[in-house]
Amino acid sequence: MALQFEVLRTAGSGGRRGRLALPHGVVETPVFMPVGTAASVKAVEQGVLETLGDEGSGAKIILANTYHLYLRPGHELIARLGGVHKFMGWDQPMLTDSGGFQVFSLSELRKVTPDGVEFRSHLDGSRHFFSPEHSMDVQIALGADIAMAFDECVETPASWERTKESMGLTHAWAQRSHDHFAANAHRVPWHEVLNGATQSLFGIVQGGMYADLRKESAERLVEMDFPGYAIGGLAVGEPREVTREMIARTLELLPKDKPRYVMGVGYPDEIEEYAKMGVDMMDCVLPTRAGRHGLLFAREADGSVVRMNIKRKEYAEDQGPIDAACRCMVCRRYSRAYLRHLFVAGEPLGLSLNSIHNLHFYLATMERVRAELANAAERAVL
Ligand SMILES: [Zn+2]
Repeated sequence: MALQFEVLRTAGSGGRRGRLALPHGVVETPVFMPVGTAASVKAVEQGVLETLGDEGSGAKIILANTYHLYLRPGHELIARLGGVHKFMGWDQPMLTDSGGFQVFSLSELRKVTPDGVEFRSHLDGSRHFFSPEHSMDVQIALGADIAMAFDECVETPASWERTKESMGLTHAWAQRSHDHFAANAHRVPWHEVLNGATQSLFGIVQGGMYADLRKESAERLVEMDFPGYAIGGLAVGEPREVTREMIARTLELLPKDKPRYVMGVGYPDEIEEYAKMGVDMMDCVLPTRAGRHGLLFAREADGSVVRMNIKRKEYAEDQGPIDAACRCMVCRRYSRAYLRHLFVAGEPLGLSLNSIHNLHFYLATMERVRAELANAAERAVL
């Protein structure tokens, strides 16, 4: 068994209530996946991740970044220690990205050829080369339940011609990722790590902000027959209506019986909106990154999301919780005044508590969306 996906109900909006069975466990979808960049969701300990959400069922799947783990401590070291799950003490589903996005956004002196990308490490300037085959080897060594095809992330904004050229490279690399993964994924003795099962590889639809290219990309990737599909290259600075349109146009073209994952989105109201459009999986660094900057999400009585900057003086003597309706361990115990003090004093606990609240807020939002989709009128069969 690698991956089994079941759509339990499709609402009139297109949103799907589903269930994704992976080697390390079952994930109820739509799901938000906290990002554990260097095998750590920044400032939040694994045991706490397991308790988040109003139902207390915790984060059911988290991400790790291939680029970061390849550079430090190295995928071969992690493989020698039994894979990324064992290394970080996390026995639930995981997904690794391909490293493509970080190679294009973090590293220096990139040189892209049809074969792959040469780059210098953002840590020490050392020289490295990533090809689709190498990205697969690194991800197989890490051993997450889901791996991602290696893709080129085009700069924003990019012309139609430039985007088409980049997309062509992404398609060639997707096929090479697919073939290399199929030939090698079983070679590492991950049957112990993955409870007797194997990893799955997702393809990534690109095509920038051009609907015709998104269509071409989706069709080409569906031909390659991946067990799941991601929509990449969004939330990179384009207007929100464009993000929404690209997601909607792409969803129509992806197989209905396979999971669909939008990478790197977004604010709480966005993840809710996209889940109700039919996106099954999302990830974003925002809840933890915002938390470390003192930006907290809360909900007004009417359900709208507000962003609270905890360092503001108005909270200095505020004895209320961040969000009176939030049932996270932070809101049940600590006041805005205390959280403001921790942040202003530069106490590490403040970064941790802020991140925990924000992650809980995201996961609780998705719990509510799943319940709404489960109870929504079913979409008429066309
Ligand atoms: Zn809270």
